[in-house]
Amino acid sequence: MAKVVIIGAGGVGGVVAHKCAQVPEVFSDIVLASRTEAKCIAIAEQVKQATGQMIKTATIDADDVPALVEFFNQEKPFMVINVALPYQDLTIMDACLESGVHYLDTANYEPLDEAKFEYKWQWAYQEKFQQAGLTALLGSGFDPGATNMFTAHMAKHYFDEIHELDIIDVNGGDHGYPFATNFNPEINIREVTADCRHWESGEFITTPAMSTKAKFTCPEDVGTYDIYRLYHEELESLGKHFPSLKRAQFWMSFSDNYLKHLDVLGNVGMTGIEPVEFNGQQIVPIQFLKALLPDPASLGPRTKGKTCIGCVVKGIKDGQEKIAYTYNICDHQACFREVSSQAISFTTGVPAMIGAKMMIEKHWLKPGVWNMEQLDPDPFMHDMNRYGLPWKTIELDSFSLSD
Ligand code: NDP
Repeated sequence: MAKVVIIGAGGVGGVVAHKCAQVPEVFSDIVLASRTEAKCIAIAEQVKQATGQMIKTATIDADDVPALVEFFNQEKPFMVINVALPYQDLTIMDACLESGVHYLDTANYEPLDEAKFEYKWQWAYQEKFQQAGLTALLGSGFDPGATNMFTAHMAKHYFDEIHELDIIDVNGGDHGYPFATNFNPEINIREVTADCRHWESGEFITTPAMSTKAKFTCPEDVGTYDIYRLYHEELESLGKHFPSLKRAQFWMSFSDNYLKHLDVLGNVGMTGIEPVEFNGQQIVPIQFLKALLPDPASLGPRTKGKTCIGCVVKGIKDGQEKIAYTYNICDHQACFREVSSQAISFTTGVPAMIGAKMMIEKHWLKPGVWNMEQLDPDPFMHDMNRYGLPWKTIELDSFSLSD
């Protein structure tokens, strides 16, 4: 039994709060803190209605290390679940070190002024966490997170050596808006407009954003979708931790409508991250765009359809070539009925809760900074089935995606 502080009361924070409250035998005390306490209070009320559990709320500025240290020293949590924005990862890690609190997040640190997704800043904390006897678990969402676990689980149980990895993230959901993003618009747009990088023969190959397209047919009648290759942060850690990988790629589905809007917004400068002067004020275009777009947390009641996210691995078992695919399918409306949220926040929030549970139950509590695939996937995969993200592994006769 442990006390946790959740930081961030957006779409993902709401799901983490619900899911932790559903497991009171592990999460005995929950504090939800964010920049805007009103959002925490609204979530706490929903959680009380759904589970009967009380959640404490607080205001915190997670960019402010001394304020975080004071808050952690006052609350004395076992760990913090960071589901604020990637910009806050390092300040929260610093405060954890100072207060002796374990750490978990779902997205790697990004500097505000440069759309760069790299683990180097957080990997640099390895020694500090080891010396403090604290654990930092990085990327415990779905992708990264569950996708790292799917890969590690297949590597452990299906293959002697893994050679090729394709992570395929399909969102077949429709929210009815002409343009909206399923998670924080600023982070989402920075991700999809960045240069594409994929891992090939020991190095990253860079190609223009969205320049490689393929079609993918999901299992269980979820449908056939256009998918585009893009850079995603788990490629960096998986390439490092599975050196036998000759190629690793990440693919995500986008509708023509989404791409058309993104193209126009990009062409007119609305996705820029550099401040511009407007009426005597400095404005960052992408932050202004975020203010105009629908709040991802509000998409829940309107989103219909399914997500299908999984990993296809090619490799060798007993001298024979083999292909296996592990995936999860999630229904947007079912997620909304359970936790008042659409499936993108749900598929991120559930692995965050399970990652925290792995640490509290000491399956994964070793000092240092870890990516998920460095830890035993079995108890995590077991809990995915138990807490709402059932997965399947199937063997395929053949698999190819057009380049
Ligand atoms: P939202 O924008 O909906 O929520 C972010 C929350 O963080 C908001 O409540 C916001 O406060 C709060 N916040 C922002 N800055 C601060 C700060 N300085 N101090 C305190 N609180 C702050 O984002 P999402 O819920 O969609 O995403 C949350 C995280 O999950 C992101 O890091 C995202 O990258 C990650 N993610 C990971 C995925 C995965 O599969 N691994 C998939 C999807 C998301 P306010 O309400 O005041 O704005």
